[in-house]
Amino acid sequence: MVECNICPRHCPLDEKGGGACGAYYAEKNEVKEKYPHCWTTMNAVHIESIPFYHAYPGSRSLLLGSSGCNLDCAYCSNAYLARGDPSNLFKFNLPPEKVIDYARKTGCHNIVFGINEPTVSLHSLEDIYRKAAAGGTPMGCLTNGYMTKETAERISRIFSFINVSLKSISDSFYKKYAGVHSVQPVLENIKYFSINNHLEITTPIVQNINNDEIEEMADLIYSINPVTPWHVFRLLPEYKMKNWDYPAIDAINRTLETARGKLPFIYFSNFVGSKWVSTLCPGCGKVVIERINFSGCGGKLVGFFLKENICSSCGKEIPLYGKRVYWHGMEVVE
Ligand code: SF4
Repeated sequence: MVECNICPRHCPLDEKGGGACGAYYAEKNEVKEKYPHCWTTMNAVHIESIPFYHAYPGSRSLLLGSSGCNLDCAYCSNAYLARGDPSNLFKFNLPPEKVIDYARKTGCHNIVFGINEPTVSLHSLEDIYRKAAAGGTPMGCLTNGYMTKETAERISRIFSFINVSLKSISDSFYKKYAGVHSVQPVLENIKYFSINNHLEITTPIVQNINNDEIEEMADLIYSINPVTPWHVFRLLPEYKMKNWDYPAIDAINRTLETARGKLPFIYFSNFVGSKWVSTLCPGCGKVVIERINFSGCGGKLVGFFLKENICSSCGKEIPLYGKRVYWHGMEVVE
């Protein structure tokens, strides 16, 4: 038996596997990926749809996903890929250079690992990073943040921009709904990424379960970095909670209005026509980056009114990671 230290579950692994995520096995005292370089998802998307709102605005991203997750969220909207049998799910088995080549051919400026959890494909993603960094392709990810400190350091090296899903700030929520003991590793890693990476945070709201935590979460994010973009996500529960209530848009937004007094970059999405997906200048209140939410996640940039990140009306600087990316067909226009 070998203990896997990639996340705080510390699963004992044998040559067949046996870990909670189903992604690793032990060979000669080493933890190995069961399905290296296997992907379920590879498609070009707007970076805003992932969502990243303050990183490379307007860019096209290669959205990469594998299979498996180290959490088991009862409401998971992606359980088919996150909790299914990986051996039946993979569509592509591609080495790093082919993934990067596919990104280039589909006109992608960056590669973002989303869909499921990057800690379950750690070694393959490190392999991609080595080639992508050499060719100047930035990488980002969505993650649940539930990983050991050592893994957070590795994730931080691979991905320059990171969106952590903060589901709750209570251990009892993580125990009851995510299948792990504590939120503490997530909170520690959020602080670490906030210092070392471009960080955005996403909170899926599960009606009557975590909507009453919004104000406390806002205080926590404020204490870490008040200009952190925070995506509040109207979750339509599935998997073990598919008959649960849908979050109430107006009531949630009333609570967010109070929080916006502290955090200037709170977004509220995952429903068509959301009015809260554009960036307003904290200085003068004008729309400085205009987006639409045209489907579920579905964010898309439709207007950019900044010059070198500066509001043209009042001169306030808006924190962005990377420049606005313009396109002509499949080519980036510098
Ligand atoms: S990454 Fe997977 S195998 Fe490793 S400790 Fe976490 S759940 Fe267990």
